[in-house]
Amino acid sequence: MIILMNAPTGEQLNRLLEKLQQHGLAAQILQQGENTIVSAAGDAHHCHIDLYERMTGVDRVIPILTPFKLVSREFCPQNTKVQVGNVVFGGESVQIIAGPCAVESYEQLYETAVSVKKSGAVMLRGGTYKPRTSPYSFQGLEKEGLEILQAVGQSVGLPVVSEVTDPRTVGIVAQYADMLQIGARNMQNFALLKEIATINKPVLLKRGNSATIEEWLMAAEYIAVGGNLQIVLCERGIRTFEPSTRNTLDLNAVPVVKQLCHLPVIVDPSHGTGHWKLVGPMSKAALAAGADGLIIEVHPHPDEALSDGAQSLTPVNFAQLMTELRALADVLGRSMLMGGETDHE
Ligand code: PEP
Ligand code: MN
Repeated sequence: MIILMNAPTGEQLNRLLEKLQQHGLAAQILQQGENTIVSAAGDAHHCHIDLYERMTGVDRVIPILTPFKLVSREFCPQNTKVQVGNVVFGGESVQIIAGPCAVESYEQLYETAVSVKKSGAVMLRGGTYKPRTSPYSFQGLEKEGLEILQAVGQSVGLPVVSEVTDPRTVGIVAQYADMLQIGARNMQNFALLKEIATINKPVLLKRGNSATIEEWLMAAEYIAVGGNLQIVLCERGIRTFEPSTRNTLDLNAVPVVKQLCHLPVIVDPSHGTGHWKLVGPMSKAALAAGADGLIIEVHPHPDEALSDGAQSLTPVNFAQLMTELRALADVLGRSMLMGGETDHE
């Protein structure tokens, strides 16, 4: 359950926490301006709701039976909007993020950024701390890459998103990026989730490649209960027995998460398929399934990419896809803004 308190005194809060402890319920406290939100988890039978409701300082008690509380639809029936610069996720418009898997050089990123913006992307992606399966693969340009990413983003006028893989680099990535990505491999890196919860920047939380939807939402709950509710979820495919694609893009997850959770959900058809030719069809399927946006890998020369070339679109193919997606968004009753346009919602 969630217990809402309006400007409680220390004594009122302590009394509530003691009571929760007596009932064997684990409490987490989230301060939102004047309001104190206490998220209590445990055996539902011991949630003496009316008792808590009568305690002084308590405004309202919302019984929530799912293990994730703050990110649950029960807690917040309306869709949450998450803003990155002038881009709003979770509103009427679908938002397309594009860019290379990794920042490789200023020239590579600039060329990509100019072209994807022209085609209608509203944000630029680029990894600089790369979580690679092999220690011998390109690991990313790290701080130098972040400098390039920020400079290019500012020069073309697109907010930027970049992955953070380690609690120790959250500060530096937050200094340069407008949104921080937690990748599939780190979805249950709890130290990283706790650290990212303490910064005031939007987070793109990808689904772990072997994570259930509940585990994914619990990862989001870590960030929320730590104080950061600016979370966009990203379905990027899960590991199954099927070897024809890099991952199995679980589009069921989009409507399932929308039912369970109030946060925006986007889809990554690049990692979800692993093949550039499949990116178009699965982008369309994702929008049809109700995704609030897409994150798509684009490289000016995919054959020469230092990572994920096989799944990267060329700028020309991306431009073509965007034309098709705009028509589809219209049919679905969802607009698609061009990069730099403001969403007046
Ligand atoms: C990426 O976005 O480049 C990436 C590594 O994604 P994922 O964590 O989904 O594999
Ligand atoms: Mn990639």
